[in-house]
Amino acid sequence: MTMYFDASMIIDDIWVGSYEAARNVAMLKKKGFSAVLNVSLDDRMFSEYPHDWRLLHFPLYDGDAIPAATFREAIDFLVLCRSERRRTLLHCAAGVSRSVTIMAAYLMKIKGMSPADALLHIMERRPEAAPATYTFNSAVMWVYGKTTFLCRTCQKKWRYTADYIYRYEGYGYLAETGHETLCQCEHPQLEIN
Ligand SMILES: [Zn+2]
Repeated sequence: MTMYFDASMIIDDIWVGSYEAARNVAMLKKKGFSAVLNVSLDDRMFSEYPHDWRLLHFPLYDGDAIPAATFREAIDFLVLCRSERRRTLLHCAAGVSRSVTIMAAYLMKIKGMSPADALLHIMERRPEAAPATYTFNSAVMWVYGKTTFLCRTCQKKWRYTADYIYRYEGYGYLAETGHETLCQCEHPQLEIN
């Protein structure tokens, strides 16, 4: 069995990871996990987990908007697991988009982070994070009721688009995306109210 564990601690002992991490039950036990929030399409692993673990599954398709009721139940679950001091794995297939979006919703809703700060917080701990634009913006809409924010630093508008990730990774600005009027600050200070 490989020792590689494809999950990253983000905040409050909530780890974002891949299906590979979720199926490694021995490793999850060894590392002290006792809760799993699965937002991939496949929940066959649930029968393998100990009976006293908390488990929740939402089959989400990547690229789609996530329903408000799903965000509410998912964040309630994470808060409950936190209150019970459970180490929790939040996973999708790759730990790149769907699970990252749920994690960002938690950071915005529970921790009061701006969308940009939530993303940066996750990417600093899980560099492969790269949520689909429409999926991520459904979290932003759920928390803030809008997807565009004023940046206090540059006075331009900030909105999450996929090229935000490319800028973060140093690929430079993609002019052909047509978002040239948006904020491009590395650490934008967003007016969130
Ligand atoms: Zn800016």
